This record gives sequence, C-alpha cells and structure tokens, in this order.
Amino acid sequence: PTVKEAPPVLAPRRKTRKIRVGSVEVGGDAPISVQSMTTTKTHDINSTLQQIAELTAAGCDIVRVACPTDKDAEALPIIAKKSKIPVIADIHFQPKYVFAAIEAGCGAVRVNPGNIRKFDDQVKEIAQAAKDAGVSLRIGVNAGSLDKRLLAKYGKATPEALVESAVWEASLFEEHDFHDFKISVKHNDPVVMVRAYELLAEAGDWPLHLGVTEAGPAFQGTIKSATAFGALLSKGIGDTIRVSLSAPPVEEVKVGSQILEALNLRPRKLEIVSCPSCGRAQVDVYELADSVTAGLADLTVPLRVAVMGCVVNGPGEAREADLGVASGNGKGQIFVKGEVIKTVPEDQIVETLIAEAQRIAGEMGMD
Ligand code: SF4
Repeated sequence: PTVKEAPPVLAPRRKTRKIRVGSVEVGGDAPISVQSMTTTKTHDINSTLQQIAELTAAGCDIVRVACPTDKDAEALPIIAKKSKIPVIADIHFQPKYVFAAIEAGCGAVRVNPGNIRKFDDQVKEIAQAAKDAGVSLRIGVNAGSLDKRLLAKYGKATPEALVESAVWEASLFEEHDFHDFKISVKHNDPVVMVRAYELLAEAGDWPLHLGVTEAGPAFQGTIKSATAFGALLSKGIGDTIRVSLSAPPVEEVKVGSQILEALNLRPRKLEIVSCPSCGRAQVDVYELADSVTAGLADLTVPLRVAVMGCVVNGPGEAREADLGVASGNGKGQIFVKGEVIKTVPEDQIVETLIAEAQRIAGEMGMD
C-alpha cells in the first residue's frame, strides 16, 4: 500500500508526558482527543449510557460524568463497564468518591488535591490507589473556584494566578511521586485562558486539557473555543480538548472535532466547500449548501464537496474538490475530480450529489 503523506500542521506538538485515560492515550505523540461531559443525572444509568452512546457515535473519545452523591458513585461501575469510551468521574471534595471511581473502573478522575486536603487530607492515599489501579487524574483549575489566597494575591483570576494554582496542585501529587495526571486552567475569557496555558506549558511537561469554561451558548461558545484552541493548538499546545457549550453535549463533540479537523490534527471527513454567493449566483447557494450538508451528514469518508453558485468561477473553484456542483441557468454541472460528468436540472442537484458521494464512498470501501 502507498504511504499517504501526513497533511501539514501549523506547528509540531509540544513534548508532553504521556498518560492513559483507560484505553485512550493523552499527551506525548497520542492524537489529540475530544472530550465532553454528560448532562444526565449520573445515577440515572440508562439515560447516562444513552447519552454516552450518542457522544461516542458523534466522535467523542473520552466522556466525563459528574459524581456529586452516593447514588452517582454507586452507578459508576456499570457506567464504566458499559461505556465504549473511557469514563472520567468528576469529583469535588469527597475523597470517598475518588476511591469509589478508581475501584469502579473509571479511566480517570478529575479531582483537585487542594480541595481534598482542605476536606480530609487523603492525597497520598488517592495517589497510591490511582497508581495501583493504573488510573490517571486531572487537576482542573477554574477561574470561578480559584483559591482565596491567590485571589487575594493577584486581585482576580489572572493567567499567573491560574498557573500558580495549577503548579501548586501538581506539587501535591508530585510530592507523593504521582505523575499520571493532566492539567487544565480554564477561564471564560479566551485571552486570559490562552495566556494561562502558554505559561503553564512553559512551567512543565504535564499533558494539557484545553477548555474555555462557561463559553456560553452554541454560537458564542463555538467562536470562543475555536479561537482560543486555535491559538494554542497552532503552537503545538494542547493534548485533549473539551468545548463547553450551553447546548447538548453532542454539539460540543462536533465543534471539538471540527476544530481538530480544520487544523489537520484529526483526519478530515466530509468537508463542504461552498461559495459565499454573490451577485453572479444563479441559485440559492445557502439552501443548496445546507441541503447537501444535511444529505451527506451520515457519510464518514474524507470527501470534499464543492457547492458553487455560478459557472463563472464555480468549475475552477470546484476543481480541488472530490465532487462538486456549479449552478447556472436552472441547471447544475456536476464535477468529479474537476471533470464535468453530467449536467442535471436544478431540482436534481442535491440527489445527484448525494448519489455520486455514495458511489465515491463505495469505491473507497468506506461508506
Ligand atoms: Fe459568486 Fe459564482 Fe463565486 Fe459563488 S462561485 S461567489 S456565485 S462568483
């Protein structure tokens, strides 16, 4: 078989320590993973597993579940067992839930040792239990829950404050010779967040979990996350990402995957190359692009499909695509690899493109 050249990326990956979250490697040369978090009550096992299955189907690599009560902790073994992707238990304060999550077979636990110390100092025991079970941990520093001491020192959650907190939390594991953890330093302001991760990347080789916290509703949250992650990933910073949206978690996974695909950090799948339309357009490009996108939504092959509004620039612009249409005079010229293969009436453009896409996918043996 011919070896395909890897597509270009903007920067080499920063060298980080590799850890494991269940079957998924994070850091080092491992592919950047996409995470999300369930919104169901974790103790509602069926709903939680159903949502995890939907996230898995959408391309999620790792899923986090909240664990605020005994009932949730009791649900972890079955969830960890039945989930097809590694499960991370998200725990604040209570060490007993950390031990329960480790025993339940979770791939990792998100827990801040600084919180555990305040409640009941069992950091050493947690580090030992995690090490024995091969479970990794995540330190999640968050602007909203920054230590009072650091808030007093810096006046607010500055990048330096977030990083000082993270480095201190890391030292609480490291003094027990525990190193299998990743770190996040989240802030809702992409500028603060980017600076914090840049500083953290200079401070150590911990694998980093990127996140803009409370990024907002889907549109704003997508822009904030894409901007911030793009700034960091284009410098090689970031080993796993979580887009936080006030929207169903499947949307987070779609956005996260698209960010990685756009930067060539994950193989591109379906890519619609559609023109913005202009005064030359002889077809409703928006509607056509939407219909083609919807019609090809289930296709999981790497396919670039061009949707062009006119035959002036259309064919030229569509040449780079695997498949495309240039519209004009109530007709659509259908292109495959830059060659016109047929011309169809406008109302048959969508179905023809879908049929051709499926044919090409079939030839690739990947439909
Ligand atoms: Fe305008 Fe045609 Fe270019 Fe679309 S392809 S932007 S309609 S010139």
